[in-house]
Amino acid sequence: MSEDTPTAPLPPCDLAIIGGGAGGVLVAMQALRQATAPLRIVMIEPRSVLAQGVAYATTHGEHLLNVPAVRMSAFDDRPEDFLDYVGATTPPGGPERASLAHAFIERRRYGEYLRVRLAEAIAARPAQLQVVHDRVAELEPRTDGATLRLARHGELQAAGVVLAVGNTPKPLPARGAPQLPEGRSLAAWDFDAVKAIPRDADLCIVGSGLSMVDTVLSLAENGHAGTIHDCRGTRCFRCRIAMAGPPPSTPPRCRRWTCAHACASCVPRRKRPWPTACRGSR
Ligand SMILES: Cc1cc2nc3c(=O)[nH]c(=O)nc-3n(C[C@H](O)[C@H](O)[C@H](O)COP(=O)(O)OP(=O)(O)OC[C@H]3O[C@@H](n4cnc5c(N)ncnc54)[C@H](O)[C@@H]3O)c2cc1C
Repeated sequence: MSEDTPTAPLPPCDLAIIGGGAGGVLVAMQALRQATAPLRIVMIEPRSVLAQGVAYATTHGEHLLNVPAVRMSAFDDRPEDFLDYVGATTPPGGPERASLAHAFIERRRYGEYLRVRLAEAIAARPAQLQVVHDRVAELEPRTDGATLRLARHGELQAAGVVLAVGNTPKPLPARGAPQLPEGRSLAAWDFDAVKAIPRDADLCIVGSGLSMVDTVLSLAENGHAGTIHDCRGTRCFRCRIAMAGPPPSTPPRCRRWTCAHACASCVPRRKRPWPTACRGSR
């Protein structure tokens, strides 16, 4: 793989992959594995490290995969490949393979796994992969492919193009949200900013999916003691993280428990610590 910031015009390529997150890296690996001729593949990714899109850019150990290791292989024909990787990279004396298989591994290790397997695919195949650290600003379809316009590196002609640009955070869907002063509203995927929230801050988390679980896990890891409101749809639940004190006298309404509910009211009834409850929802 050549990974550089070219100054000369980019030569045409057989395949351009726009985005070097998990999806882009998976496509590159498959293209490299299946290539029988010296294809030229170009991946365009602004970040300096590959396979670090929204999910796997986190450096925080409490952010886990939401699928057990045994089901996270990058390859159909090697269904236990991720488990093999985890087994091989777990220090001696760590959990046995049987328990790793059903474990929810740290997400940062999945990005590492993809980078290792990409390097292996490059070494083994006749195709070439060039990574260009830039952003594609424009794409113009042609009859024989497409012209890509990069922000800093001019044009690239490609016979085929894969769009692997991932998801972008949505703006907070609430009137007045854009007027919030800087620092008062954070995207859940800004993992470091979430970690830096003061321990005694009162918070409202908008949404109750797995990014909410990530956020609560990070807050709990920090020993957060403030009140957390968890809003989904038109409902708003109020709870306090269990370790900060006794559960509130009026438990929040709990149609289908989520992490935040489990922290305050469900834990005493379910008799299991809140991190287990959080992990159970993945
Ligand atoms: C918090 C969170 C946790 C998740 N956990 C899991 C999980 O445990 N298991 C699972 O299977 N899935 C999980 N997912 C889903 C996960 O996002 C996908 O599995 C996978 O990461 C998506 O890969 P992607 O390549 O589509 O996007 P990303 O990995 O986000 O990559 C997109 C890339 O495109 C680049 N890009 C964007 N625009 C341009 C442009 N114009 N030019 C060049 N490059 C560009 C970006 O820089 C980025 O690197 C999670 C998602 C989130 C948000």
